[in-house]
Amino acid sequence: MSHPCDRAVEEMYFYLDGEMSFYRRVRIRWHLRKCDSCCGAFDFEDGVKRLVREKSHTEPSPELIQRLRTLIREEAGDDAER
Ligand SMILES: [Zn+2]
Repeated sequence: MSHPCDRAVEEMYFYLDGEMSFYRRVRIRWHLRKCDSCCGAFDFEDGVKRLVREKSHTEPSPELIQRLRTLIREEAGDDAER
């Protein structure tokens, strides 16, 4: 059983890095709107990312990216358009 929040939080990294499709961004926003814990985490991550970006170039680890890409590919099939 995986909590919806786990996925949402992980996907935030793509969201923040601008690598996600428009559709995915909307979906995450929709979740964040309903979920206070994710919303708080998102604000936090967003702030951190922005701070880091101002100082230097940074990327999520290759391991994380690979994991996220697999997740997204798996999910892409089962619930489109909603
Ligand atoms: Zn959540």
